[in-house]
Amino acid sequence: MSTPVSPNTVLANALSHAQDVLTPRVRDTTPERIVFVVGTQINGAPHIGTSLVQSLAFATAARVREKFGVPVEVRFAALDNAPHTIVTDQSTGHLFMRTYAHALGHQAIAQQIDTLYHPLFAALSERLAVPYAVETYSEQQATQHFRRTWLRVLPRMDAARWWLAPSAGVAHLRVPCPSPGCGWSEKYAQRTRVRDSSRDHATVTAECLHHGTYEVTVAPDSGEGYLDLATLYRNLVKELSLGDKYSGTLHVMVKGGDWVFGSHLVDGALQAVGLAPQQFPARLFCPQVVTDTGAKLSKSLIREGHAPLPDGAAPWMLDTREWPGTVADYVERLLGMTEIVLSDPRHFFRSYSAGEVGRMMTAPTTRSLPTP
Ligand SMILES: [Zn+2]
Repeated sequence: MSTPVSPNTVLANALSHAQDVLTPRVRDTTPERIVFVVGTQINGAPHIGTSLVQSLAFATAARVREKFGVPVEVRFAALDNAPHTIVTDQSTGHLFMRTYAHALGHQAIAQQIDTLYHPLFAALSERLAVPYAVETYSEQQATQHFRRTWLRVLPRMDAARWWLAPSAGVAHLRVPCPSPGCGWSEKYAQRTRVRDSSRDHATVTAECLHHGTYEVTVAPDSGEGYLDLATLYRNLVKELSLGDKYSGTLHVMVKGGDWVFGSHLVDGALQAVGLAPQQFPARLFCPQVVTDTGAKLSKSLIREGHAPLPDGAAPWMLDTREWPGTVADYVERLLGMTEIVLSDPRHFFRSYSAGEVGRMMTAPTTRSLPTP
């Protein structure tokens, strides 16, 4: 495989290995196990950027286990609350949306995860002997722990809301219409109100596209209602729920590099609601795959004709099902690429053009580079 040429950076210069960026948190918490959490929107076939982050989660987990002798696992959060359909309500001009979970249903989502993600994860897990688990957002929001965390954070939202929504100060909470087969909610939650709340329940009123005003009571045990939170708000509640009690587990949130900017806001919100920095999850930002202009390689922009397929990009980069080979072969190539990316911090803390990824993924394999 061709080795890239990468410039030095302040961060790369401070590290011997990319995964060392996690060392201060590991030493600070002396965890009994480390869980690498990687979230992916379930909205169609995965692209190469997604595969790269997922394979780096497994590969980094294996290296951290080797360094610290602590058990590791990868937890895959399937974000099935991504918008599936968005329409404009003619009478108000408000946008209404249905999530993938509401539009497709639990069965179809489970099937999509089985088809599109399990084969890749199973192969990565087996090759690196790193166990993994999958949880959908729909399952997570229904748990007692997630709901209790949300109910606890509600009274403190005044402190957090400008972090979560710096422009308007309103962090969107959606509770999709519970009428059978419906599930529409106002995308920007203009008429969604928390009427009253305590540690045990919250009553939320909202407007449906078809059913007018409705009311939902969200309680930890009832399973009633569906908590669909705007992205930063969701991350606040999720990360609070991970860090609110000492469980001996250090969580590492693994994300693409485009999250560097937004994560500062989540950290501000965590602090604003009273979490101590030692309780924050650790963060690992992975290389982004970008086009010739330096923008993130975006399947939807290309599909909708707003951007051309960049030089050197192939259709499989936008839809990994089109990889011209077996899953085993794809995993082999991905792991080859993660070895290169992890071989020097200069190769990790940077982006890669689609053309460069193409070269790295398809150049003739030379077995295992020595680890420095
Ligand atoms: Zn409805």
